[in-house]
Amino acid sequence: MVLFNQTNQTDQMNKMSRRNVVIISAHPDDMEIGMGGTVAKLAESMAVITSVVITNGGRSSNPFALTEQRLAEVRREEALHAAGVLGVKDVTFFDEPDAADEINIPAVAQRLVEILARLRPTEVYTLDEAGDRHPAHRLAGKLARESVLAAGIVVSGGIWAYEIWGPFAAWDRLEYIDRYVAKKMAAIAEHHSQVATIPYGEGVLGLNRWRAVFADPKAIAPAGEYAEVFRRIAIAPRSN
Ligand SMILES: [Zn+2]
Repeated sequence: MVLFNQTNQTDQMNKMSRRNVVIISAHPDDMEIGMGGTVAKLAESMAVITSVVITNGGRSSNPFALTEQRLAEVRREEALHAAGVLGVKDVTFFDEPDAADEINIPAVAQRLVEILARLRPTEVYTLDEAGDRHPAHRLAGKLARESVLAAGIVVSGGIWAYEIWGPFAAWDRLEYIDRYVAKKMAAIAEHHSQVATIPYGEGVLGLNRWRAVFADPKAIAPAGEYAEVFRRIAIAPRSN
């Protein structure tokens, strides 16, 4: 039996109760669009948050006709600013090509396993490998789930998928983000190269409003104004 003195015991309890979050995304703006409100909420609760971005986003919407390399550089800067708005200090860029079929899957898997094994997160968030319409998003979700398994870690707070290109027909968790909507919109707006021609902020704001209004069919009135929803991802191998 190990005995702690009072200080060590308190340290230990703080460590255990502190939420340790890893967010695995495909593109530099996914986290902000899909779960920016919840990220700001987690950051305010003193969670330790690490954001991992798999591709460099160099072939995304490019209204200023930058070269692929320049767009990738711009998007990295935009992602760092956006993360700062939300309170995320640690962003890791894998810098893979922005095309699902060109991503070095073994290399990404290895890096994800290494990060997960080192950080031992209590919660993991990623994209939806089943329902998202973007192939790179589905791949990110699949690699995230497989890497949690391969890392052999127990994610006590669960693995959660956030929604972007394909609103969920059913969800397992809803987070009201009323107090964090402004931060979320500001973070999305940092992605100047993307929102110059596609109003992602307005699009997701509508979805977040819809989520809150239609959250509970039995409610007399909505419990909040804006919400983000998540699907729980089972941590088990799949045959396909
Ligand atoms: Zn994306």
